[in-house]
Amino acid sequence: MYRYDAPLREMRFVIEEVLRAPDDWRETPLFADLDTDTAAEVLQQAARFAGEVLQPLNAPGDREGCRLEGGRVKTPAGFPQAWAAFVEGGWPALACDPEFGGQGLPQVLNAALFEMLVAANHAWVMYPGLLHGAYETLKAHGSPALRQAYLPRLVSGQWLAAMALSEPQAGSDLGLVRTAATPQADGSLRISGGKIFISGGDHDLSDNIVHLVLCRLPDAPPGSKGLSLALVPAVLPDGARNAMHCDGLEHKMGIHGSATCVMRYEGATGWLVGEPHRGLGAMFVMMNAARLHVGLQGLGHLEMAAQNARRYAAERLQMRAARRPDDAPAAAADPIAWHPAMRRTLRDLQALSEGLRVVAYRAATVIDVLEQHPDPQRRAAAAAEAALLTPVVKAFCSQQGFEGASAALQVFGGYGFLRDYGIEQTLRDARIGAIYEGTNQIQAIDLLVRKVLGPSGPAFEAWLDVLAEGADADAALGTALRQQIAFAHEALTAVRAGAARDAEAPFRVADDFLAGVAHLLLAWAWCLSAGAARRAAERGGDAVWLAERVSLARHGADWILPQAAVHWQRVRTMAALGAVAV
Ligand SMILES: Cc1cc2nc3c(=O)[nH]c(=O)nc-3n(C[C@H](O)[C@H](O)[C@H](O)COP(=O)(O)OP(=O)(O)OC[C@H]3O[C@@H](n4cnc5c(N)ncnc54)[C@H](O)[C@@H]3O)c2cc1C
Repeated sequence: MYRYDAPLREMRFVIEEVLRAPDDWRETPLFADLDTDTAAEVLQQAARFAGEVLQPLNAPGDREGCRLEGGRVKTPAGFPQAWAAFVEGGWPALACDPEFGGQGLPQVLNAALFEMLVAANHAWVMYPGLLHGAYETLKAHGSPALRQAYLPRLVSGQWLAAMALSEPQAGSDLGLVRTAATPQADGSLRISGGKIFISGGDHDLSDNIVHLVLCRLPDAPPGSKGLSLALVPAVLPDGARNAMHCDGLEHKMGIHGSATCVMRYEGATGWLVGEPHRGLGAMFVMMNAARLHVGLQGLGHLEMAAQNARRYAAERLQMRAARRPDDAPAAAADPIAWHPAMRRTLRDLQALSEGLRVVAYRAATVIDVLEQHPDPQRRAAAAAEAALLTPVVKAFCSQQGFEGASAALQVFGGYGFLRDYGIEQTLRDARIGAIYEGTNQIQAIDLLVRKVLGPSGPAFEAWLDVLAEGADADAALGTALRQQIAFAHEALTAVRAGAARDAEAPFRVADDFLAGVAHLLLAWAWCLSAGAARRAAERGGDAVWLAERVSLARHGADWILPQAAVHWQRVRTMAALGAVAV
């Protein structure tokens, strides 16, 4: 049966042993009282919620989908009750500031929470998925009155949030947004225009939905420098419904339980968030938080696919294996997990899942440092790393979530293609990760062109030096990591030279550059994991379980890292590659 067992032991291993997050907690006043037992208890409770409440709603929610009734959205059966239980458990407040009613726990625990929630039910997670980003945006840019009125209710989960950017003509290029904002005498705005693809634009989970709408003031300059951000609640402070409507629901390939709304604002009342014409900057606070969450979605799908493929492969019997365990009873057919091709797929999936968990949780721990650490130098270094890590985590984890689900579906053979086995839903649901929150191509351009070839060039090289320090953790894997870092330096030299000759060249290889960096990060993650496992074993930890971590790390280096050479090669030879024909 398709089910989710949260990998709690692996998660704790990453947080406590590989990344040693508790060392940072001790140095951070907000987290100083947090101990590993409390953190483990939080994860245990989260796992129970994901496995017992959300996962049973996943397949039925996919079949039922959302519908419009009398102009309002109805979500699948059980979704509103699951939200009520989530709020009751205090989960929305996990990583929010105690000043607004939050629990003040680290982002890395929130990351683990969201990995579990998505693995269990991606569609449902779309409703709270934007809550934290909306909270961060309002906290950073909202006026005191808006913060006072909205933050506590968002933190408690009484109200939910939506991010309203996309319009029919404005997708990746938000500079094309037309929605108009007209200032009123009382300081409010009247918002008029249409938005498409708005996740959770309307639903029946909460009484109010707070839309953050990208719009244009009358005197706005054209393009992205003329965008403003407005807070537009579905229910106004006097209790009246705002002049905004869900005109339709998109019919989609996956995440059917998530309401993807066509929204119409007809002179809706809103208030400016941040400075006029500086809306995109304010929105990026929300989008960066959201991008880490999309990466975690990929990780959740990968883990879900990997563990179900392992369970299936252990039970499905086909042909006798060439190499059988010595104590295996005589049988006409063996588990497909014993056949080398399947064994390799299963190990690939598990090694990837374990490696990417280190990388994604690293992004969360870096955000914890940049937001909370008392040392300004640590905060500055963390901010630089977060800027580089976010696009890689978003793009690579979402891609691996989908590709991993596809590889796992293969393990199920023909049954994987059927609806009853669950893996086809994971595959369909995982596909969106590469598209929304800035497509993966836009992430690659952000990393290489905007950041590495722009002002973050020195920070990127400094980051490579920091990652290189991880090579001492394990001799064999350290060599693989050093090789990846050498490839990255060569690629950087080539791409700088190529860009000087041909301005289009870096855009052609941005995807490969990001994939190269992602593999480098995997090498770093596996190296650190192997080192941490060995240290833990020396301290008397479970030798068998820890040896398995080392074995998986080695598998990743042997079977997955070779792919990096192709990506680095294309970046290195970029000038010779020439333009792609139109
Ligand atoms: C299920 C779902 C939920 C969504 N939720 C939300 C939401 O809550 N709020 C919201 O505002 N939006 C939402 N979106 C919209 C989503 O963010 C956009 O679909 C996305 O930004 C891409 O825009 P687009 O679809 O118009 O594609 P386009 O921008 O038209 O891009 C099409 C293709 O061209 C590529 N491309 C475009 N420009 C470039 C370039 N300069 N260089 C290289 N390649 C390029 C893209 O990578 C893509 O492959 C959602 C979409 C979906 C499908």
